[in-house]
Amino acid sequence: DTPQIGVAGMAVMGKNLALNIESRGYTVAVWNRTGSKTEAFVKDHSDKNLVPSYTIKDFVNSLEKPRRILLMVKAGQPTDDVIHEILPFLDKGDVLIDGGNTFFKDTMRRNAELDSSGINFIGMGVSGGELGALKGPALMPGGQKEAYDLVAPILTKIAAKAPDGTPCVAYIGPNGAGHYVKMIHNGIEYGDEELISESYDLMKNVLGMSDDEMAKTFAEWNKGELSSYLIDITSKILTYKDDLGSGKPIVEMILDRANNKGTGKWSSENALELQVPQSVITESVYARYISMMKDERVNASKILPEVVNKDIKIDKDKVLEQIREALYFSKIMSYAQGFEQMEIASAHYDWDLQYEQIASIWRAGCIIRAKLLEPIMNAYKKNPQLKNILLDDYFKDIAGKYQDAARNVTSLAVQLGRPVPGFSSAITYYDQYRSAQLPANLIQAMRDYFGAHTFERTDRPGNFHYTWYKEQ
Ligand code: NDP
Repeated sequence: DTPQIGVAGMAVMGKNLALNIESRGYTVAVWNRTGSKTEAFVKDHSDKNLVPSYTIKDFVNSLEKPRRILLMVKAGQPTDDVIHEILPFLDKGDVLIDGGNTFFKDTMRRNAELDSSGINFIGMGVSGGELGALKGPALMPGGQKEAYDLVAPILTKIAAKAPDGTPCVAYIGPNGAGHYVKMIHNGIEYGDEELISESYDLMKNVLGMSDDEMAKTFAEWNKGELSSYLIDITSKILTYKDDLGSGKPIVEMILDRANNKGTGKWSSENALELQVPQSVITESVYARYISMMKDERVNASKILPEVVNKDIKIDKDKVLEQIREALYFSKIMSYAQGFEQMEIASAHYDWDLQYEQIASIWRAGCIIRAKLLEPIMNAYKKNPQLKNILLDDYFKDIAGKYQDAARNVTSLAVQLGRPVPGFSSAITYYDQYRSAQLPANLIQAMRDYFGAHTFERTDRPGNFHYTWYKEQ
């Protein structure tokens, strides 16, 4: 069979996606810079319809036209290198898909560059890690719509399926839209992980719960509205014992320095650039940064005083339920910010993003898959122009029911000296967003006082400057 698609890049993601595509009845051409990896891969899967090539030219020429090539190589310069090597062998109308974790502005640039030579370029966010790639990832492709249509049948077959059977792939929008949405997905992932970790910290250090008890609690929470992949794996992680014999749960033996690959930072940087409040995700990025300063923290822990009231009466069952409610409330704030950022970006970059569809394709395959995405879908189904999910009835009701818990958990943590950047930024965002009046008038007054930056008035239009002081 002539291969209907080629996969370039035989590291873990490329190999698993190639096997996934092959398992849906396609013949897949495969190529890797280091040929021995291609050779080993096809040898390990000799019963599969895989066609190896050891030069780019052979690889491209082996494909059915218009050609469909999925790049799964290291993001950044390596992606540019491979594109430039492939380009001379492509014809007008061929489709290149970059499935790497690429910065969306690189995708916008590449899409424009290749478009001028008649090559279609799709930047596709892929989520779900190696297992997702093999069994069914969530896919977020952006680029030329007609190019998407050429690859849609394959992508639809390999994507994860939501509980109602809907494939977790959809055309996201032009140029960098797909990689942008993947970036927001990753930012939201940072927020979710931070909020779950804060919940764990409060259970452990305020309520004195054991890892087994916490595991059971998270498993219980996973049956309700918090149901999600990350809550599920948390409940499992807490049950694993140290494999090096300390007798402790493995999680308690893991150093508390949270690393990152920069995608959370990208979404925060873009929020700053587009002037969108995105505090929960950004606090989560900062939380990882301060976690990395382990030596400094250990040193400061011996120097800086802690003055807290240890006599606060705590009703364990009550506080535990409040943590659950605060977690759901805070997660909603994080998603509200992430979706509003996408709305503002969509207008800014002219993408026409479809939020119901985005929520839909995040329901399976990806890391943030969660029950919460169903009410988000419903909110955008009812009103595709919705400014912020908090204005939808479901979320308005949750905010009404759970804000008391969000306030109590945050203030309890603050009184006891436990850091809760996620929880506190969530309730603060809620209070800012619903405030008709903020103290920004005083900021404007100061700006006008020292810099004559002018201000608007509450009672009439126009820009005003006040004569704060007379020249001496
Ligand atoms: P890596 O990101 O580790 O990339 C390794 C691959 O890139 C190898 O095939 C390597 O070829 C190739 N490569 C590196 N530099 C060059 C170059 N200059 N020219 C040609 N080929 C080059 O692999 P992963 O499978 O982990 O990820 C692939 C992409 O998917 C990345 O962009 C990643 O961010 C993204 N991704 C990864 C996920 C994951 O869970 N790992 C999840 C979602 C997306 P060689 O063998 O010759 O060195």
